[in-house]
Amino acid sequence: MNDTADILDLKMKALYQSMGISEKVCDFALDVERSLKDRFAGFDRIAEYNQMKVLRAMQKYRVSEECFNTTTGYGYNDHGREVLEQVYADVFHTEAALVRPLIACGTHALSIALAGNLLPGDELLCPAGKPYDTLEEVIGIRDSRGSLKEYGVTYRQVELLSDGSFDYEAIRKAIGPKTKLAEIQRSKGYQTRPSFSVKQIGELIRFLKEQKPDIICMVDNCYGEFVDIIEPGDVGADLVVGSLIKNPGGGLAPIGGYIAGTKECVDRAAFRMTCPGLGSEVGATLGVNRSFFQGLFLAPMVVKGAVKGALFASEVFARLGFGVVPESKEERNDIIQAVSFEDPKKLISFCKGIQAAAPVDSYVDPEPWDMPGYDSQVIMAAGAFISGASIELSADGPMKPPYAAYFQGGLTYEHARFGIMKALQIMLDAHQIEL
Ligand SMILES: *Cc1c(COP(=O)(O)O)cnc(C)c1O
Repeated sequence: MNDTADILDLKMKALYQSMGISEKVCDFALDVERSLKDRFAGFDRIAEYNQMKVLRAMQKYRVSEECFNTTTGYGYNDHGREVLEQVYADVFHTEAALVRPLIACGTHALSIALAGNLLPGDELLCPAGKPYDTLEEVIGIRDSRGSLKEYGVTYRQVELLSDGSFDYEAIRKAIGPKTKLAEIQRSKGYQTRPSFSVKQIGELIRFLKEQKPDIICMVDNCYGEFVDIIEPGDVGADLVVGSLIKNPGGGLAPIGGYIAGTKECVDRAAFRMTCPGLGSEVGATLGVNRSFFQGLFLAPMVVKGAVKGALFASEVFARLGFGVVPESKEERNDIIQAVSFEDPKKLISFCKGIQAAAPVDSYVDPEPWDMPGYDSQVIMAAGAFISGASIELSADGPMKPPYAAYFQGGLTYEHARFGIMKALQIMLDAHQIEL
């Protein structure tokens, strides 16, 4: 037994060496990994729970071969689409769901859900700080054609307290007769606040409904799906929205978004997605149903790998003295790991490592560039099977202090781990770190 393990160890090191990883980095990675054993076991249990939750829903709604058939044109009576939406509603514990390739991305899903449920004269409230960057133009925080603001929907925002908690007093004051919908973002995205747990979101929803029972509570669930055993639908959210090229697509969905929630809220979103009257009745699926089902089936395991990779990165860089959010002892509420490098050269090395580890475009060298909509240059690393899919191993960092990299994804833990090892090797060779 020991002999076999020793032989595997030797072969592993030789293989890693042939991929440019020194023994020093291998040993360091192994040491870090061993220290995370108990946390990893916890993630395994969460994934087991979520795997069974998804499987039970697929069995309950009788997913069959027929569900993988394709539709074209209007897409009336798309059986697979209808079953998939029932499965999503079951998994997210909501009355209904819209899961469509017609939804181009997460921002589009959020935009449809907002525009479908807000009318002229209504007010949108963000009770937990600023929403995701791309929603600024949707809402009209930054002026844009077709924004909610142009349609006469007003906007109000309540900042978090300095310790990252909800400012209940200010929220109470911000709720008025016009307040129709509250939007809460689960993941920190590219901010420095901590991500919210589903339980915390539940407390906020309870408070909002106490102030105003008919307020619609919508959660931007991007990057949060399957990290916990409960989802926002379990704690009273009326709308739960996300992207299929992140967690719930399991790396297989080639496009799409979902909107789960009450029947009324989802129907209204559907009337905005297509048009009034047609709603969810139309929308051919063009053959993507199989990858939506299969991706959802794999998603709990894929998310587990990504969460393990994020924790591994957190512990690696904390040991080397860098600032990490979240820290390795903290609870995880999404798949994102931030590392502050405090040095542009180190940030670039890190991204080069992630890119060099990719299964696709590994030979490409990422460079900082002037990305539209950002006030500094940005460096990105991604070598994905699905373009832009951030459930796949990826990293990006704005080229300004604190020179932080936001690292996420990895379809397998082993791959995420290798990405970090590659980054370590490049940094070590450039004398930017010491092991
Ligand atoms: C990614 C993301 C979005 C937007 O999704 P896109 O698919 O990039 O449009 C919105 N909110 C959060 C928190 C996200 O992480």
